[in-house]
Amino acid sequence: MSGLLGVFSFEDYTVFPKLYYGLYALQHRGQESVGIGTINQQQTQIHSKAGLISENFGSNLIETMPGNKGIGFVEYNTLGKQQVKMPVADENSLLAIDGLIENDDFSIQSCLKALNGALENIQKYFDKIRGKFTLIFMNDERFVVYKSKDGIKPLSIGKIGQSMVASSETCAIETIGGKIIREIQPGELFVQTQTHSFSYYLTDSFDSTENLDAFEFLYTARPDSILDGISVYQARFRLGEALWQENPIKDAIVIGAPDSGIIASLGYAQASNLPYQDGFVRNRYVGRTFIKATELDREQGLEVKLTPIRQNVSNRNIILVDDSIVRGTTIQRTVKSLKEMGAHSVHVRIASPPIVYPGEITLDIKGKEELFAANHSLEEMKTLIGCDSLQFLSLDGFYRAIGRTEMYDKYFKPEKLQEEY
Ligand code: 5GP
Ligand code: MG
Repeated sequence: MSGLLGVFSFEDYTVFPKLYYGLYALQHRGQESVGIGTINQQQTQIHSKAGLISENFGSNLIETMPGNKGIGFVEYNTLGKQQVKMPVADENSLLAIDGLIENDDFSIQSCLKALNGALENIQKYFDKIRGKFTLIFMNDERFVVYKSKDGIKPLSIGKIGQSMVASSETCAIETIGGKIIREIQPGELFVQTQTHSFSYYLTDSFDSTENLDAFEFLYTARPDSILDGISVYQARFRLGEALWQENPIKDAIVIGAPDSGIIASLGYAQASNLPYQDGFVRNRYVGRTFIKATELDREQGLEVKLTPIRQNVSNRNIILVDDSIVRGTTIQRTVKSLKEMGAHSVHVRIASPPIVYPGEITLDIKGKEELFAANHSLEEMKTLIGCDSLQFLSLDGFYRAIGRTEMYDKYFKPEKLQEEY
C-alpha cells in the first residue's frame, strides 16, 4: 500500500498546490518517499525525495513546478519489493503505480507505450496484466486510472471545479476542496479525454469478488475516508461495539491505544456504557524519523512518544482497546507503562482477529515467525503482554461490524488453509 493522487485539467490551472496539500492527506499511506510529477505544456518534470512531504517539499516549489496536470505519490515499500520510484515520466506523460505487477515481461516503458497508444489497445494491454495494483496515468490528451480485478486497493475519482482528481483515498479529494464522484470498480479502466469520459470493465466475470484489503478498514485508511461505500470511522466504531458484545466486562474504564485504537475504544465505551478516558498523551512532536533516529535507545524513544496519564489510570480497572496486534511490541509496551503508572488491572481487547499470516499487501513482515499471534497461544500472549485478560474479535464479528461479506483477509487464516484459499 502506498498513496496515489492525480489532478488533471484541460484549462489554465496550476495543480501543484492541490498535489502538495493532497499528499499531506495521504501521508499515512506511506512515509518512505514522496514524489510529485507535473506536465506543463507537454513537458514533464519530477521531484522525488526520501522521507515525508513536510520534510522535503516546500510550497515554494510551486514556482518551479508549473502545469495543469500532475501526479503525487507517497511510498510504503512493503519488504522493499518496489523497485521503481513513482511517479515515472517520459517526455510528455506521467504514470504512477501502487502495487506489484506479476507479468515477467512487464516494463514501465511498455506500460507507458500502451497508455500513450490507441485507446482500444489500452484495454487489451491491461487485460493481460496480472497483479494487485492501482494506477494513474496522464498525458496532454487523456487521464487514465485503473484498479486491478481483485479490487484489493482503494481508488476513487472526484472533481475540483473543471479538474479531474483520482486518489487512493477519498479523504485527499475532500481535503483539497474536491467533490467525490465515486470509487473505481475492480477491473475498471476509466478514461477521461477532452470530450468524453468512459470506462472499460476488465472483470473476469460479473461476479468478481471485490476483495478489498481488510487492513484498510482496520488500520491503513484514514477514518474520514469512504471505502466501498462504508465510512472507515463508522466501521472502526462498530468494531469496538462488536468487541464489547462478544466479551462484556463490567466495572472498568475504557481507554484506546493512540492513535489506531481510539475509534474502536469509543465504540466499545458507547456499547458498554462504561466511561471513556484518555489514557495516554501522544507526543505530537515525535514523528517517524524521531523513532528511527533513536534506534540506539528504542525503548526510551517509544516512551517519549506515548505516556500514560497517571491521574486517569492509577488504581483503575482498565479496558485497553487497540486495533490489532502484529509483532506485539506496541501492546506489550503500552500495558507495561499502564501498570507502571499504577493501573489496578488491564484487560486488552483487540478489534480484529489474531493476525497469523502476513499476506502480501500491507504488512512489512517477512514471515509467520515475526507474528505474535502466529507463535503463541492466547494464554501465552496474555502472559507475555502482562495483562489481566486478552480477547480478540472473532472473524465473524469483524465481517459483521464492517458490513461486508468478502475481503482480502488472509491475515486471519492459518497458513495451512492458505493452499485452498
Ligand atoms: P505491533 O507493535 O503489534 O507490531 O503493531 C502495532 C500497530 O502497528 C498495529 O496497529 C498494527 O496494525 C500496525 N502495524 C505493525 N506493523 C505494520 C506493518 O508492517 N504495516 C502496517 N501497515 N501496519 C503495521
Ligand atoms: Mg497502533
